[in-house]
Amino acid sequence: MRKAQLAATAAACKQEPGVIAPTVNLKRCEGKGDCVTVCPENVFQVRRIDEADYRELNILQKLKLRVHGLKVAYTPNADACRACGLCVSACPEHAITLGRRT
Ligand code: SF4
Repeated sequence: MRKAQLAATAAACKQEPGVIAPTVNLKRCEGKGDCVTVCPENVFQVRRIDEADYRELNILQKLKLRVHGLKVAYTPNADACRACGLCVSACPEHAITLGRRT
């Protein structure tokens, strides 16, 4: 998607920040970074998986993640999400879901 299209999609999004937030399924994420590229609110950061999260993976998931450099996407700026849905569509691993914050 081109930058102009991204901006138009973001502008069309009416959701206030802080209501909806993305969740990344770390069992599926391969840290490819498409979410970082498309998110107009800079919600995502791709970095090395936390040790505690790594321990939660099964052996096949650990091996897959090692092939991908142990990188996954985290959401340090989740409060800024405006629920445009671009990250959900862009993720090639279908690892991102949107949900109402509790
Ligand atoms: S839905 Fe995804 S791409 Fe859109 S603002 Fe929220 S985190 Fe960013």
